Amino acid sequence: MKKIALLTSGGDSPGMNAAIRSIVKTCLHYNIVPFGIYDGYQGMIDGRGKQLGYTDIDNIIQYGGTILGTARCKDFMTPEGRQKAYQFLNENKVDGLIVIGGDGTFTGANILSKENNIPIIGLPGTIDNDIYGTDYTIGFDTALNTVIEAVDKIRDTASSHHRIFFIEVMGRDAGFIALHSAIASGADSVLIPEEITDIPQLVEEIKSHSKGRRSTIIMVAEGDDEGHAIDILTKVKPYLPEYDLRHSVLGHIQRGGNPSALDRKIATRMGNYAVELLMENKTGLTVGVRGEDLVTCPIADAIKEHSELDLNYLKLLEVLRTK
Ligand code: ATP
Repeated sequence: MKKIALLTSGGDSPGMNAAIRSIVKTCLHYNIVPFGIYDGYQGMIDGRGKQLGYTDIDNIIQYGGTILGTARCKDFMTPEGRQKAYQFLNENKVDGLIVIGGDGTFTGANILSKENNIPIIGLPGTIDNDIYGTDYTIGFDTALNTVIEAVDKIRDTASSHHRIFFIEVMGRDAGFIALHSAIASGADSVLIPEEITDIPQLVEEIKSHSKGRRSTIIMVAEGDDEGHAIDILTKVKPYLPEYDLRHSVLGHIQRGGNPSALDRKIATRMGNYAVELLMENKTGLTVGVRGEDLVTCPIADAIKEHSELDLNYLKLLEVLRTK
């Protein structure tokens, strides 16, 4: 393993830079040439990449985003696009590839690897935490911290005005951010794609939580079956005419910001491990964390299986509603 290429792909997440830094430093430590590819698979097709050195990754551990840039690339879904991409790797004498992204990124890498016999390792980089084979994805913890900081602020104004707030967070297919932030911010209810939302029941919950209290917070995952926060507000409003209902969509602030200590740590450990796995001629794996341990998972499983949200947190939320 003389040269390892790396890229970030799909949605960005805080901690990707920490992973890039760790991959590059580990490569340099073992006299391997790190080769950065810009803007995910698009850059691989366009032939945009360069050898990375210490100065490229110095002082980046603290920044959100990704210095390599990221993209969603339709051309990579075609055999012709992937062939062009592989040609670029071949011309640059790349021996192995590390991709940092979500399950779409892993799917693309897996196909590329099978078509061209190039070793690959995937690192889970997404704020959604919905990747099989790991307790945490790079960026989830920072996104949670961003959300709870925002909820704390919204609660201040909600309490001043006796308001009920529906706060929408990211999570088209999974409720990790909504449920975990509900627990960590002391929210009263949570609506997630994994559970069917019952509007009459929600109305009763709101009446019950809000009795004698100055504010009520309901976390809504953007992929809830009853729609976005504004849709849910509109649906409950006729049943709660005397209540002051508001909504807030946190949006892309959840994807940015300085990574938390946890994200920096797991990204650094995963980046280091990814290089070592390639050095041991391992391929077709994703890296994850289980408790304090680094683990691997076949990339085919990481693509096929879904990470299950622990719904015991809903029971905890129920207990925490006790007045
Ligand atoms: P996020 O969780 O943030 O959405 P992701 O990695 O799942 O991240 P996608 O947009 O689904 O994001 O995938 C990233 C890129 O991976 C795509 O733009 C495409 O280039 C490549 N990719 C995804 N699915 C496939 C596929 N079936 N075949 C080839 N390439 C794919």
